[in-house]
Amino acid sequence: MEPFQYRTDAAVPLLTLTSWEREFSYVVAGMSTRNRESLKNPNRCNYALHVGDDPELVIQQRQQLSQVLNFPFASWTSAEQVHGVRIQEVKAGDRGKGRESRQSAFAQTDGLITREPDILLASFYADCVPILYFCPDVKAVGVAHAGWRGTVGGIGPAMVRELVRMGARRERIRAAIAPSIGACCYEVDDRVASPVREMLPGDADAVLKPASAGKWMLDLRELNRRLLLTEGLEERYVSVTGWCTSCHPEYFHSHRRDRGRTGRMVAFIGLRKDE
Ligand SMILES: [Zn+2]
Repeated sequence: MEPFQYRTDAAVPLLTLTSWEREFSYVVAGMSTRNRESLKNPNRCNYALHVGDDPELVIQQRQQLSQVLNFPFASWTSAEQVHGVRIQEVKAGDRGKGRESRQSAFAQTDGLITREPDILLASFYADCVPILYFCPDVKAVGVAHAGWRGTVGGIGPAMVRELVRMGARRERIRAAIAPSIGACCYEVDDRVASPVREMLPGDADAVLKPASAGKWMLDLRELNRRLLLTEGLEERYVSVTGWCTSCHPEYFHSHRRDRGRTGRMVAFIGLRKDE
């Protein structure tokens, strides 16, 4: 079953990770989508603050989403993503970093983890793979930005090791791979295919299918799923979306499809304060 479900009652379009939210009422997790208006104006339903984005509109939309999720906007915390593998634990004093500017975000960081309630980890995407993490035994949540560089750098398994360092048991950690570019649309050349082969020795055919000469279709989501299982996560606790961002312009921004002229969705996760 598709782990990400539309929340049709929401004032801004979004998907929620229904299975986690149902089982653990204090977890808020999901990903924004886009609406019709944003097909004409990529700053609509855009949550990132890159050069060329409209900061006033982006901040306004971040505030609207926070409101829908019932998190104060002060809790929105982001990193400056650079396709790297650096992971940051977000403490209470870091709450709100990156909320209104890239300058205040965690520099050069692609993985965020927190054990603090009332912090909304927010990370931006237009094809790259968002991986959401939750571990009930240490009440920790996390998000990792895994494009091909982050994936072959090993950010997915590195997040698991970081959670384990905090006391989590591998067999209790949940991960959810959110909407991102699918094998249907992600053609790569040897520059990408070659490090991918090294990640899955003898098994790379499962994620790389030959396309035209010197090109392959890469299943980045399946690669990340396999890396998480190798790291010790249980298969039943690793869920993967069926949504391809490039196939569905009506729902998702896609960097590749729109040749870079695009907004960003936000993948989010947080723990509610005890009431
Ligand atoms: Zn596709």
